[in-house]
Amino acid sequence: MVTDIRNKIRKIVLEYGTIRDKKYHVIGKPFRVLIGAILSQRTRDAKTDEAAKNLFSVISNPEDIINMGIEKLQNLIKPSGFYRQKSKNIKKLCEILVRDYDGNVPKKREELLRLPGVGFKTADIVSLYAYGIPTIPVDIHVEIVSKRLGLVRKDAKYEETRATLENIFNKKEIPRINSGMVEFGQRVCLTARPKCYMCPLMGVCKYDKKNLNPPRSASVRPV
Ligand code: SF4
Repeated sequence: MVTDIRNKIRKIVLEYGTIRDKKYHVIGKPFRVLIGAILSQRTRDAKTDEAAKNLFSVISNPEDIINMGIEKLQNLIKPSGFYRQKSKNIKKLCEILVRDYDGNVPKKREELLRLPGVGFKTADIVSLYAYGIPTIPVDIHVEIVSKRLGLVRKDAKYEETRATLENIFNKKEIPRINSGMVEFGQRVCLTARPKCYMCPLMGVCKYDKKNLNPPRSASVRPV
């Protein structure tokens, strides 16, 4: 029974992962992935993309950022939330990359975690999307979806959530779980008001506050 439920969840999450992976390049250049992940912190996809596009239209490596004034950097990444703090972190981080890593982004998680502005999620995004290391970055959607479905304990923190999910899915599937849950979370299992009335996982979901009332104009197609 548990296996059936997990297989159903696995199938849907992987389908949504395919949808997202078609929109984004799955593996990117490490420096770009790292800066993109910092810009994405507490920021929506569209605003992250806008800030990253502005920035990478004028820079291509850490030295470019070191040589740029902080105000110019702030203006370029302004579409992203918390741009002042992010600018400071990005500046410091670039100095460390040049000083300690010849301008490259380290691969080891513990080294990534020592960089300014890099927490568990950002480090895991770099591991997965820059270096192809199979892991599951736990962003807000991964956390909410996995807890509502009952895959992870409600009060689990980041490392427990990641480890639990990495035990549930197999090594081949793990690289697509983040993108699958993000896409599913943005389309169906919305943070504030999940669309349970059209959710393909309603029958197996453990969430006890399901939203079963579609708005009058709502499409009932999940994708
Ligand atoms: S039934 Fe509702 S809460 Fe459960 S996964 Fe689907 S949308 Fe999310």
